[in-house]
Amino acid sequence: MHIHDRNGRELNAECLIGEEDGVYGLIVESWGPSHRNKDYNSALEYIIERLINSGQEKVVVYLASLPARKNIPSLDERKIHPTEYFSLTEGSPSDIRQELCRFQTHFSRTGKKDIPSASGNRSKRIMITIPGISNAEFWEQIIYGYSAFSLEPTDDEETLRKMVHKLLKTPLDEPKGYKMPAKTERVHKVSFRDPAVKAWVLQQSKGFCEQCGENAPFSISGGYPYLEVHHVIPLSASGADTISNCVALCPNCHRAFHFSDNAKELLETLYTKIKRLQR
Ligand SMILES: [Zn+2]
Ligand SMILES: [Zn+2]
Repeated sequence: MHIHDRNGRELNAECLIGEEDGVYGLIVESWGPSHRNKDYNSALEYIIERLINSGQEKVVVYLASLPARKNIPSLDERKIHPTEYFSLTEGSPSDIRQELCRFQTHFSRTGKKDIPSASGNRSKRIMITIPGISNAEFWEQIIYGYSAFSLEPTDDEETLRKMVHKLLKTPLDEPKGYKMPAKTERVHKVSFRDPAVKAWVLQQSKGFCEQCGENAPFSISGGYPYLEVHHVIPLSASGADTISNCVALCPNCHRAFHFSDNAKELLETLYTKIKRLQR
């Protein structure tokens, strides 16, 4: 088996899925002249990228060359990284690959003198394992680059958001999309809202976003400034439709309250800033 690149081309890096020395995982190897290192390195980066995209955050990597296996029978001592797991969360796939290679060189230099120094490719055969994962399908997706999660269109907002989030990590080819996307009918609960609450909150904002203080971005018919009224505790989470749970926000700030990675901090400042809000 060979690792495939993004276009399905075989890289000059061989691999094997299965059990060896009592652990199940992916063995990646590269033999021969050093010009093959380039493919070995990019193969490793594809593997790292695909592992991350499939939601994996940590792996265990063992040195698996023949000399290493002969001279260091203890699997635990052949662990490349000094910590229990090797983290996939620090930096780009290339950064992570380089970090892994740094551990490998370190390994051969320190305390493992029983490895014959002329053993050549000792660091070019490694075994990547993920505790709890022992099926070939998973690793096939990693070496061939199939998506490890469904990419089928979805009618669920949250699933769509998660899929997009994962896809953002990979440079994509222009997608075809669907000229006639499938449709579905959905029943969901909607709260009755008090128009007076919404109008009052808009009136007292005087056209300024209560978060950033900026003017409303445009006006609507009648010349009224366009702002959105946001329920601090969502109605869907049993929040109240009262002025002590509503703020007038510009569209940018409104989206930030729903999707920003610092939405919690934003909420805290809002509670301190706007006295009428009650938790
Ligand atoms: Zn704003
Ligand atoms: Zn909202």
